[in-house]
Amino acid sequence: AKRSQILNFSAGPACLPTKILEQAAKDLIDYAETGISLAELSHRSSICSNLIKSTQNNLRKLLGIPDNYSILFMQGGGTAQFSAVVYNLLAYQVAKNPSTVSNMKCDYIVTGSWGLKAAHEAKRLGAMVNIVSDPKKIDGKYGRIPDESTWNFSQNPAYIHYCDNETVDGVEFAEFPKSLPEGVPVICDMSSNILSREFDVSKYAVIYAGAQKNFGIAGITMIIVRNDILERADAPNCAKLGIPITPVILDYKTTSDCNSLYNTLPMFNVRVANLVFENLLESGGVAAQERISKRKAEKLYSLLEKYPDVFEIVPGKGYRSRMNVTFRMGNLEEKFISESKDLGFEGLKGHRSVGGIRASFYNAMPEDGVDRLIEFMETFVKRYVS
Ligand code: PLP
Repeated sequence: AKRSQILNFSAGPACLPTKILEQAAKDLIDYAETGISLAELSHRSSICSNLIKSTQNNLRKLLGIPDNYSILFMQGGGTAQFSAVVYNLLAYQVAKNPSTVSNMKCDYIVTGSWGLKAAHEAKRLGAMVNIVSDPKKIDGKYGRIPDESTWNFSQNPAYIHYCDNETVDGVEFAEFPKSLPEGVPVICDMSSNILSREFDVSKYAVIYAGAQKNFGIAGITMIIVRNDILERADAPNCAKLGIPITPVILDYKTTSDCNSLYNTLPMFNVRVANLVFENLLESGGVAAQERISKRKAEKLYSLLEKYPDVFEIVPGKGYRSRMNVTFRMGNLEEKFISESKDLGFEGLKGHRSVGGIRASFYNAMPEDGVDRLIEFMETFVKRYVS
């Protein structure tokens, strides 16, 4: 098939605008008229440090990131951050609360399988984990965010972690949780919805997101971290208190001190991210994306609601993701996937752990693509169901 015939609804890696890939392809051969590929240029050259600076500046503009926050680029995807958060935040508490750190729990609000994985990693690394809420324990599956009055925070948590958009389960927080205890660092995994809506960065201690959904290609992760968290992570004292020392490659302070160049950063991935950021700035920024992504999701959810006998929407109202629309179609699923493939619609099969159908509408999915999917679904229903 030709690229122009395909609509890629994959949950990640996600589609990218062709014009961005075309520019990136040129940069891979010859970057900025240096005669050298971006994959060949030294990451320590001034041209690359300018690229990092420009990428950070564009991201700062897009998300309105305050001056007391640093932007880091690291490797290892969202998964590496599951570990990095534990090390860095416990080290921060070693500096801030040395007398109580050994008794501090790490609080995880779990609303889907990624949040659960993050909690499992914290436990694996030896942290005392408190699950604030896990609807699967009650319902046997993910699909809602229990009322905040039922959340069970620990006495004096080292931090609170949650995942803003659960990519597998299609569950998204509609807004910042209201009942978080004051003064506790809030850590958020925004891997699958960053840059799709405006939010107040100052409510968070750390925000992280892998690139391959909303801002580029797998290989880099953005970390937005409040500077006091950076400054207070103090490794030598960790050992004395029995808190693990952060591996250097996951250390936020080291990464920040080296402007994300402690070791070789994949500059091509940074360039693709910057192209996405520039494109977003030229097309109305995050506010515009917020309007579009709301519209795209509403269109599909209202079609699904129109045929309740055919489609079972996984998440309940109020928690439905704008990025990953998950639903079930019983024994019509196989036919649906196969016919949609014939039309060039790719990536609609649900995650292997849960099955069903998942249509992902990241920023690069044009509204027209969603309209075409809906048109197909209407004809599909008429053909097989009425
Ligand atoms: N967090 C969320 C919300 C995700 O969707 C994913 C991957 O899909 C991850 C974390 C893990 O990211 P990575 O594969 O980059 O490690």
